[in-house]
Amino acid sequence: MKHLIIDGHLDAAINALREERDQTLPVTAIREREKDIPKDKLGTCTVSFSEMRRCGIPLCMTTVLARAKPWIEPGRTSQGSDCDFPAQDMAYAFAMGQLAYYRELERRGEVSIITDRPGLDAHWSRWEAGQSGGDDLPIGVILTMEGADPITEPDRLEHWYGMGLRSVFLAHYGHSHYAAGTPSIDQPQSHEQDGPVTAKGFALFKEMSRLEIPLDMTHLSDTSFWDAAKAYDGPVYSSHTNCRALADDVRQFTDEQIKFIVDRGGVLGLSMHFAMIKGGFTGEAFRVGPSTVTLEHVADHVDHICQLAGSTKHIAIGSDLDGGFGAERCPVGLDTCEDMHKLGPILQGRGYSDADIARFFHGNWLDFLRRTLPD
Ligand SMILES: [Zn+2]
Repeated sequence: MKHLIIDGHLDAAINALREERDQTLPVTAIREREKDIPKDKLGTCTVSFSEMRRCGIPLCMTTVLARAKPWIEPGRTSQGSDCDFPAQDMAYAFAMGQLAYYRELERRGEVSIITDRPGLDAHWSRWEAGQSGGDDLPIGVILTMEGADPITEPDRLEHWYGMGLRSVFLAHYGHSHYAAGTPSIDQPQSHEQDGPVTAKGFALFKEMSRLEIPLDMTHLSDTSFWDAAKAYDGPVYSSHTNCRALADDVRQFTDEQIKFIVDRGGVLGLSMHFAMIKGGFTGEAFRVGPSTVTLEHVADHVDHICQLAGSTKHIAIGSDLDGGFGAERCPVGLDTCEDMHKLGPILQGRGYSDADIARFFHGNWLDFLRRTLPD
C-alpha cells in the first residue's frame, strides 16, 4: 500500500504570484500552458495542489517568501524572477499577497490552512478515512516564512502568528536582516558569504520563543546556524537540507549539524534537487543536469541520517519541487511529485520496515507538528 506523504517544503504561492502558475490545475494542464516558456527560465512543472490531491500528498508546509536586500537596484523586478526588495515593508507586502492567495484558495475549499493540533488531527483523519479517494478533500497547508525579512520588526511576529504563520526561517539565500543564509548552489561566488545572526535576529528569537514558533534551520550559513543553535531554546527542525557528507556544499548540513537537530528532537526533510543529492555539480556540470543522480541516491541520504540519529524517527521529505526548478533538475525517475512514492520500494529493498517507511513519508512530520502546533 502506498503511504500518504507529508511534504515539508513547497513554495506554492510565489509560483502563483510570480510565475502565474495556477496551483489548482493538474500538472499536465500546467505543462500545456507553459509549453512555450524556455525550460531554463521556468522548469517543467512537477507539483500543484491539484496534483497532490490526486497522488496522496494531503499536507505540506508551504511558504511566504520575500527578501529585503538594501543594496539591490530598482528595476530588477521587471526580470520576473525576483523576490528581492530594497526595504522590509515591501517584502512584507509581497509576502502578505502570498498569504492572501492561500486564504482565497481556502475559501474555495482547495486548501485548508492548519494552525493548531486539533485542526491537524481532524485533517489527517479525514484523509486517512478516504485514503483511496480523497478527491474532494482540501490539501492541508502549514504556513511558514522562508527568510524573516517580511517580519519588519521582531515584535511584528505576533501579527504574522495571528494570521496563521507557524514556522520561521531566519534567512533564505544570502543575507537577511536577521542572519546569513548560504549562497545559492549555482552562484557560489555570491558576495553574501557566511556571517552571524544579527542583533535583530537575537531579538526575534525572544519573540519566537514566547510564541513557541519552530525555527527552520534550513538555509543558515554555518556561523548563523551555530549562533542560532546556542541562542534559540524553542523547537528546531530543517524542512529541506540534505547531507554535506554526500553532497559537499555549504547549503547542506554537516554531520554535526544533523546531530544537533536530531538531539533537539527535530526532523530533517530531504530536498529533491539533484545537486543537493549528489556532489560535484558546479559550473558546466550543473548546467548539464542530473543524468547520474537517481532516487537510490536520495535513499543514501535517508540511510545517512538514520545512521547518525540511530533511528528512523528524524527523517522526512521536504521536496522543494516548486522551488525554482522543475523536472529537469530532479533525479532520474522523478517526473512529478507522484514519483516520490517510488522511494517506498527502494527503502524496503534496503531493509526498512513498513513502519519505518511510513515514518519517512509522513509519521515523523506528523509527530513533530503534533508536538509543536498549539492546542
Ligand atoms: Zn529553500
